[in-house]
Amino acid sequence: MYKSARSPSVWGYFARVWRLNWILEMTWRCLLALLTYLIIAVHSDPNAEGRKWTYTGPDGELYWDKNFPYCGGVHQSPIDIRSDVVQYDASLQPVELLYYDVSGASMLSLKNNGHSVELSLPSSMCIGGLPYRYSAAQLHLHWGSTMQPWGSEHTINGKRFAAELHIVHFNSDKYADLTTAADKADGLAVLGVFIKVGQFSPAFNRILKHLSSVKFRDQVIQVLPFDIRDLLPEKLNEYYRYDGSLTTPPCYPSVLWTIFRQPVEISSEQLNMLVSKLYCNNFQETVPVMMVDNFRHTKDVNRRRVSASFREGMLLSIIVAALLGVALIIALTCFVIRQKRRKAAEHKMKEVVYKPAARREGDTSKV
Ligand SMILES: [Zn+2]
Repeated sequence: MYKSARSPSVWGYFARVWRLNWILEMTWRCLLALLTYLIIAVHSDPNAEGRKWTYTGPDGELYWDKNFPYCGGVHQSPIDIRSDVVQYDASLQPVELLYYDVSGASMLSLKNNGHSVELSLPSSMCIGGLPYRYSAAQLHLHWGSTMQPWGSEHTINGKRFAAELHIVHFNSDKYADLTTAADKADGLAVLGVFIKVGQFSPAFNRILKHLSSVKFRDQVIQVLPFDIRDLLPEKLNEYYRYDGSLTTPPCYPSVLWTIFRQPVEISSEQLNMLVSKLYCNNFQETVPVMMVDNFRHTKDVNRRRVSASFREGMLLSIIVAALLGVALIIALTCFVIRQKRRKAAEHKMKEVVYKPAARREGDTSKV
């Protein structure tokens, strides 16, 4: 009786301890699972659109990958387009712009999105000549500052241009809109245009003259439509092509890039408007933040193929080879002339040595 009276309480005690341990362990596991989920939610959410980001400071491009993991991934943009990695591709045809003249369309929205100035574009505008049809969605610009007016995102052999225009298109054969296409591997195609200081551009002025009306973030104005082709360079057959990403968070690696070789020009006054008129924050905020240097620095090419539709490398090689050939011919000619002169000089010396002896012989015969 004694044993039978004590046994259940001992077992009961162990059972209670075991159950408590089990409850504690399960709680701990649940907490761990919740914590893991929260970490994944924060660090792996590719749709973290609403998170704050800037180009400098604690939310600057060096830290984008904390909230936007793709920004720390491979196949990122922009890149430095270096001659030693560019390969000529004979299959690249001139870029085909379809329905770019939207002057008859309805008004276009010009918006300060806090990072750039963005012009909405009708989806009737598109580019052909690619495996899919890509319809236009918007265009925007990247630029520097008054102190350093060099703000293109892509660079050519390390050279940065004053600004860069991006015309963003989405794969309308496969996806309903820009948002749906943005994170798909074949989702986007962006045309990039380098901008340098030169002649006044009436086409760019159709955007720039309205900047004062969209000084602050989220301000929008309706502007008259125009022929978007006028923003592009004359030569549409000379461009670089590579697979890259959005140059802003969430940095999806979903962009087929086309970067035109020929830059377009705007006047220094027009560039000054771009670098001095806009702010990153809302009208209500007390300390306005100038919208300047809104360009991402270049990323590694990482063995990606960077193609060119033109033979710049080959022409350069031909010129270098021709110059080397000419230099070789000149060197050989100089060598032959020098050899001839040396032989002539030696021959002359022999004659000089020989003649007195002949004279002496002659003299002797005369004696
Ligand atoms: Zn851009």
